[in-house]
Amino acid sequence: MKELAGRFPYREELFQVYSHPDCLLHEVGVDHPETPGRLQSVLRGCARLAPTLPISWQTPPPARIAELERVHDIDYLERLRSACQHAHPYFMSYDNHICPQTFRAVLAAGGCALSLATTLLGGGAGFALVRPPGHHAGRKRAEGFCFVNHTALVIETIRCKQPEAAFLVVDFDVHHGHGLNFLYYDDPGIFYYSLHGEPEHIYPNTGHRQETGRGAGTGCTCNITLPLDSSGNQWLQQFESHLHSFENKLRPDYLLVNAGFDAHQDDPFGVMHVEDHHFRSAVSQLHAVAREYCRGRIGLFLEGGYSMTVLERLLPAIIEDLALAYAAGV
Ligand SMILES: [Zn+2]
Repeated sequence: MKELAGRFPYREELFQVYSHPDCLLHEVGVDHPETPGRLQSVLRGCARLAPTLPISWQTPPPARIAELERVHDIDYLERLRSACQHAHPYFMSYDNHICPQTFRAVLAAGGCALSLATTLLGGGAGFALVRPPGHHAGRKRAEGFCFVNHTALVIETIRCKQPEAAFLVVDFDVHHGHGLNFLYYDDPGIFYYSLHGEPEHIYPNTGHRQETGRGAGTGCTCNITLPLDSSGNQWLQQFESHLHSFENKLRPDYLLVNAGFDAHQDDPFGVMHVEDHHFRSAVSQLHAVAREYCRGRIGLFLEGGYSMTVLERLLPAIIEDLALAYAAGV
């Protein structure tokens, strides 16, 4: 990671990429898909990006627990820290494996999210390459490999400075980001749009089309479900058809993206057939939305995606696309 920071030195005006070596410390055992190898693959791919690209690489300081309290209950955070210290094998759910170093990884990933929030507040854009992922985590609930909700952490950090800010959150992980969706289900300041597999057949079994928000947030959730085995063209067609559904509800100041790549045809989860060019097209359209509505302020978070080959190839390509588009201001 040091080499990447040397190759892409910090320049405020460029597209920012965040990661931290401590994110690799979270070990989950040999049979678990959310391995350090995922992020290592992304980093290996990024190391082959041309040094002339308009990218700024940052390794931010880890978050402090008090900062994570903007989203999560202190009791929950202390229980997680204690479970790691005592070398418990998992935390709260059987798929959330932990190790003694997991809490350090959680703080490091949180620190990347906090720096992304600072960049967005300053009018910039960036991508947080972090693990563990975040979009399934609730206020006091670890689930679906997630512990801290990075998207919510960015939202709450920005709201400390800009209480009236409006957010569009787009989640194209193949699993519904129920942690984030239900944290803000009645919040009219956040429009959550998710494209995912039909909840009857896939974790976390939430995110039906008729779930559209509650109270003041009614109409601020758009859950689009796809049958398993959907093709990449079907996925992209649905993505495009509903991407602008926020327009009747709010004018976003910020676009946040839960970027999961487990709908890829080569992903070991094996539930959809999306290809590299479909993801790149989706991200390109997101960048256009950010330009049109948010003055270019887009922040992305790595969520799922478990094929090392895909992560090593596709993530650097997407970062290159975003950085060039951001620099060109198009
Ligand atoms: Zn997923």
